[in-house]
Amino acid sequence: MQLVLHNIDKVLSGSLAEPVLDVDTIVVDDGQITSFDAGSGSGSATVIDCKGMTVAAGLVDTHVHPTLGDYAHKQQSVGYLERMMHGGVTRVMSAGEVHAPGRFDADSALAIAAGAFYSFNVFQPAGMKVHGGAMLFETDTEFAHIDRAYEIGMRIIGEVGIGSLKDPVRSGELARHARDLGMTVHMHCGCTSDRGPGGDAHPHFSADDVFVVQPTIASHANTFASLSDDDIDRLCGPEGPPFVEIVQAGGTRSMLRVVERLKETDSLHRLLIGTDTPTGYGVTSLGILKTIGDICSLAGVEPEIGWAIASGQGAAAFGCDGNVIKVGAAADLVVLDASLGSVEDTATDAIAAGEFPGVAVVITDGAVRVTGSLCTLRARRVADIDVAA
Ligand SMILES: [Zn+2]
Repeated sequence: MQLVLHNIDKVLSGSLAEPVLDVDTIVVDDGQITSFDAGSGSGSATVIDCKGMTVAAGLVDTHVHPTLGDYAHKQQSVGYLERMMHGGVTRVMSAGEVHAPGRFDADSALAIAAGAFYSFNVFQPAGMKVHGGAMLFETDTEFAHIDRAYEIGMRIIGEVGIGSLKDPVRSGELARHARDLGMTVHMHCGCTSDRGPGGDAHPHFSADDVFVVQPTIASHANTFASLSDDDIDRLCGPEGPPFVEIVQAGGTRSMLRVVERLKETDSLHRLLIGTDTPTGYGVTSLGILKTIGDICSLAGVEPEIGWAIASGQGAAAFGCDGNVIKVGAAADLVVLDASLGSVEDTATDAIAAGEFPGVAVVITDGAVRVTGSLCTLRARRVADIDVAA
């Protein structure tokens, strides 16, 4: 089954190395991008006339807390992952199934994470790719639990500090074991979100704690009850972890400080963008789009750079080569435009101004999943989709 997108004005590739591609056609065969040559389309293709809109790599949310199915226990919200697809997010990364009830020790933590891993390996809400199964560290977690998670295929450790294990020294031993296996380790920064017993034992995770644990990602460095400015600067410095994450469910001033510190040292390749969905703040279907607009309009990041950070870079931090537009990549694509009625001319102008662009079409694995976002404003132009007979 072939899909051809043509009449494209601008392509945001999702790669920091070459964030804008000068092509006006994308040809997809069996879910993979095979060519940018308009002549390579066959007569039996589904054709999308993009009417001069922008086509971009699908977005990645590096920080969600799924449970099982498309249900957010924390907010009693059904269908929230499907709605994130309407915000251009085609892949999400679990930071721990922390809201799933009944986790009380290392065995149950492994079992709950494994359940989410197996389930989301098959279940794709509205075509979204969900990397579920981020095991949490508990007070009785042993290397053997991590080894078993790795054997199953799990590659993410949920946020250090939100399981029952609060001790940074022991967490660091486990985190380094997981990273040595090739797993990506999140670590909660700032005040604990733990409502039960245990949170009061270690109510704040500082830069010092991150340096002890040595995770892959300093998660939500702009947490609502923030790290100190000095701690943010240390995490963003050369001795900090490979990635520093900002989230929509966090403070704006501290978010901008993270971005500015990384930008001034040419280190935006260390920035990740998540939402922390769901939190007490809510489920934020447009949270990634909002954060891209924030860092572009308030911290001077160019829209194509902001988009690359929130797509290909987010996938790469988890050892995944998706969410980029290149020959051979999965066709996970977003067609977008300035909103109908906006004073801006293009999607990238809108992003630079901090506006929501209008999402017109969302595609994963070459299949059209969304036509006309139910969450953004309407795109100014409407793509014509001619479905192959
Ligand atoms: Zn957290």
